[in-house]
Amino acid sequence: MTSRYDILFQPIQIGPVTAPNRFYQVPHCNGFGWRMPKGLAAMRGMKAEGGWGVVCTEETEIHYTSDLSPFFEGRIWDDADIPSLQLMTESVHKHGSLAGIELAYNGRDASNLYTRAAPFDLASRGLVGGSGYEPGQSRSASKDDLKQIRKWHRNAAIRAKRAGFDIIYCYAGHNLTLAFHLLSKDNDRSDEYGGSLENRVRFFRELIEDTKEAVGDTCAVAVRFAVDELLGAEGMQHDGEARDIVGMLAELPDLWDVNISSWKNDSITSRFGKEGHQEKYIAFVKQLTTKPVVGVGRYTSPDSMVSAIERGIMDMIGAARPSIADPFLPTKIKEGRHEDIRECIGCNICVTGDTRFVPIRCTQNPTMGEEFRRDWHPEIIAPKKSEEEILIVGAGPAGLEAARALGQRGYRVILTDAKREAGGRVLLESQLPNLIEWRRVIDWRLTQIQKLENVFFYPSSKVSVEDALEAGAPHIIIATGSTWRRDGMGRYHSRPLPGNGNVFTPDDLMSGKLPTGKVLIYDDDHYYMGGVLAELLATNGCEVTLVTPAPTISAWTEYTLEQSRIYKRLLSLNVTLLPYHALASFSPTTAAITHTITNTETSLACDAIVMVTDRIPNDSLYHELKPALADGRLKSLRLIGDAEAPNIIAQAVFSGHLAAREFDEVIDPDVAPFKIER
Ligand code: ADP
Ligand code: SF4
Repeated sequence: MTSRYDILFQPIQIGPVTAPNRFYQVPHCNGFGWRMPKGLAAMRGMKAEGGWGVVCTEETEIHYTSDLSPFFEGRIWDDADIPSLQLMTESVHKHGSLAGIELAYNGRDASNLYTRAAPFDLASRGLVGGSGYEPGQSRSASKDDLKQIRKWHRNAAIRAKRAGFDIIYCYAGHNLTLAFHLLSKDNDRSDEYGGSLENRVRFFRELIEDTKEAVGDTCAVAVRFAVDELLGAEGMQHDGEARDIVGMLAELPDLWDVNISSWKNDSITSRFGKEGHQEKYIAFVKQLTTKPVVGVGRYTSPDSMVSAIERGIMDMIGAARPSIADPFLPTKIKEGRHEDIRECIGCNICVTGDTRFVPIRCTQNPTMGEEFRRDWHPEIIAPKKSEEEILIVGAGPAGLEAARALGQRGYRVILTDAKREAGGRVLLESQLPNLIEWRRVIDWRLTQIQKLENVFFYPSSKVSVEDALEAGAPHIIIATGSTWRRDGMGRYHSRPLPGNGNVFTPDDLMSGKLPTGKVLIYDDDHYYMGGVLAELLATNGCEVTLVTPAPTISAWTEYTLEQSRIYKRLLSLNVTLLPYHALASFSPTTAAITHTITNTETSLACDAIVMVTDRIPNDSLYHELKPALADGRLKSLRLIGDAEAPNIIAQAVFSGHLAAREFDEVIDPDVAPFKIER
């Protein structure tokens, strides 16, 4: 039977190799890198198993003078790196997909903290890798040095071929690589690598030519090129030099993988950008080359994918995040199971694997990053071991995921929630400004639960201890979430704050109880909540001051690549930003704040205070049920999600999934429950 989506499954010729379909997992960082090659290989292999026709590495250091520590990326410095990389190519080839490697020489974006080498760049400039503020500068590369770097790149390409890669990248994206720096406007070299566009393109051209000459007989040579930096005339522009560069190199590579930079633009969160957001920048590329073009834009809808191809925007659907949230996205489209696609919500928790130096995790896909160490598969779970019945109290992300996964195992599950609608915190938070896509966490789980005849959901059912025991299930999982504190206690204050005033919490605001007038938001949470509530109140006409003890606003959003956009939005809404300040006390009309370093106290007029501090786990039901466990009325009792320990949504989903996997298993609390790569 033919379908509208058949076009997505056409094989695509890329130079000397052929991709089995148009699904292309573009290079993406993951926090495993060279340090955990087995975890990495299993994660990449899962994408191939799920139907991604091409699966790429992350940026891969070609030489020790481009050491990307403290980040863990790929590494192909010498032959000793080949076996680790082979684990990945083998796991990808096993499923008939092509493996691509993104070779990178990052110049001043490499801080070389581990190797202590001086990175070469087009000039001696301050290092921008690592924290962004690492002391030190790059070393100006002479023409001979550039020749050396070309040799290192060529050698890396040859090693990559030996490791089994089918597609080898020359990388000029994300403002990271030397190739990109040479292309960009801040290249003021006076030799044949600077000045005219022809000159500035020279190095990139040479890299492509070298790679083709070295490995082009059997490997495709791809380029990754950022066609716009969203800096206007100050940077690369899709309707400016980028067009000329693509025109000059049009037929040279075997494939164009085009995007925008920097990373925060390329991987924009759903709060700030929607599906297909890059189309307007990359659309021109296909007009200038006959070679296949890959683009990204967090496509999760099969119709948008078909449309992007039919409209001539791209030939292959590039994806990092959609392939993380659902490694089996291509298979599900092929099988016409569109409703089963676990759509990425655009939160960038996956990015924090790289930015916090730990294995990748995902809000929607709790198995991401756990493929090797826990043997978790995103689609397969062990069948039930008994006929036991489980009652789950609370249908937030933790309870929903526990119910879904236990249901998938075949257990009979009763899921209850006090509210009329499932979703818990996600239901509320997704109604905050621009967070609507987060609803996908609920929607996917409810869709799956509705298909399971053994899972029964009872909304509007607040469960007491008596109700829980009367329900008769011998196993109870408590997923009752948490409640935002009202007393100001958190990271900064260990005691309740003195004062009487109009205090609100995020729970109040999300249930529609909004302050008016001058509002002080005290943010000791540091992720999105403080900033998003400031946005909500400012657009509602409040005069908002955001106070936080941290040195920056919404500090942790730096790791999700959102911080600068949050600043921009809050400043555009005239929100007053006061970092390095803690709330000290308050009255109905004033608040006293202290500078966290100087202790200087300032008084501000304010009509209301919103406390975004710690949360209190709603664990009373768990504690009240414990005696029933002790006297044998219950066989098991488990506390999960925010009720166990308040955290991000991804952790609640993970916690629910873990509870389902561990059900009916004997767990040794003295041993780490996963394999460790040493
Ligand atoms: P998590 O993030 O851990 O999933 P949430 O706060 O999102 O936690 O969800 C907790 C859910 O539990 C909420 O929807 C809430 O209505 C529900 N809940 C809390 N206490 C009870 C209870 N006693 N009976 C039924 N549902 C409850
Ligand atoms: Fe998408 Fe968030 Fe998962 Fe990343 S962590 S893939 S942004 S759902």
